[in-house]
Amino acid sequence: MSGQEAVVSKPCETASMRAMVDEGAGPLLLSFFCAGTPNQTATDDVITRLGGEPEDVVKLRYRGMGWPGKFSAALSDGAVVETEYDDSWGRTLGPSVPWRCRTCGDGMGESADLVAGDLWETDERGYPLFEELEGYSVLIARTQRGVEAARAAAAAGYIQLEPVSVEEVLAAQPAQVARRERLMGRLVATVLMGLPITRYQGFGVLRESGKRPRAIYKEALGAAARLRARGYDWAGGRVRPVLSKLRGR
Ligand SMILES: Cc1cc2nc3c(=O)[nH]c(=O)nc-3n(C[C@H](O)[C@H](O)[C@H](O)COP(=O)(O)OP(=O)(O)OC[C@H]3O[C@@H](n4cnc5c(N)ncnc54)[C@H](O)[C@@H]3O)c2cc1C
Ligand code: SF4
Repeated sequence: MSGQEAVVSKPCETASMRAMVDEGAGPLLLSFFCAGTPNQTATDDVITRLGGEPEDVVKLRYRGMGWPGKFSAALSDGAVVETEYDDSWGRTLGPSVPWRCRTCGDGMGESADLVAGDLWETDERGYPLFEELEGYSVLIARTQRGVEAARAAAAAGYIQLEPVSVEEVLAAQPAQVARRERLMGRLVATVLMGLPITRYQGFGVLRESGKRPRAIYKEALGAAARLRARGYDWAGGRVRPVLSKLRGR
């Protein structure tokens, strides 16, 4: 690549790209805040719940045409089924994300040159209000190249930039903050179930867990229970036969 190209990808994919190319070399890496990718079955479920047939869909939007905009599916007979983002994501899509996403500590695109997210307004509990609003994205430039790209886009009139504080960004993204703070609990539970985990070097996972051991313990218990409900067993099922043998003696 000539260095003029850009790649837009989820943070986990951006991290893979960064592992292949040094900062400043290769394409500009653009990413976005990411809470996970819903599975296809969940998308089909929303369409069916709204009265459509998944095989009749000719165009699908998870959001957009507004902020956040609606989940909407255009059907082959010209009808459109749609629902609020809070309903589609909160009720069906969000709960369907894979375990890999539930143990993701990189939802805010640490490896990107430039990362975009939603600057949600939140209620008094910190829960994002998904009411239709004018729409604000937050941009975080993580490298000099990212800063230059954002400034060039503003100078060319594509975007308007205003300063925003770290506190405002974190307040708009309570789920990302909680996920990062309690990540250790989920990772421990995943390891105890004999499943692989992603290594997070430089993410302060140990430091964060040291600040809230009780919350980590509860998170680990909850995560282990959810994994067991998905059919996993301790140490990948290797513990139970040993216990049975010991009991049989
Ligand atoms: C798998 C996945 C997971 C995600 N998880 C998160 C997450 O956890 N947290 C988070 O903050 N974001 C999340 N996002 C959204 C992501 O942050 C946004 O897509 C990104 O911030 C929008 O920037 P963009 O440059 O990609 O979008 P663009 O396509 O350039 O811009 C679209 C933006 O404009 C808005 N818009 C479109 N039309 C209108 C209109 N008429 N009026 C007002 N606004 C309008 C859209 O709602 C959207 O915000 C996720 C996206 C994906 C694909
Ligand atoms: S939540 Fe993490 S692992 Fe899942 S798609 Fe997003 S960046 Fe990748």
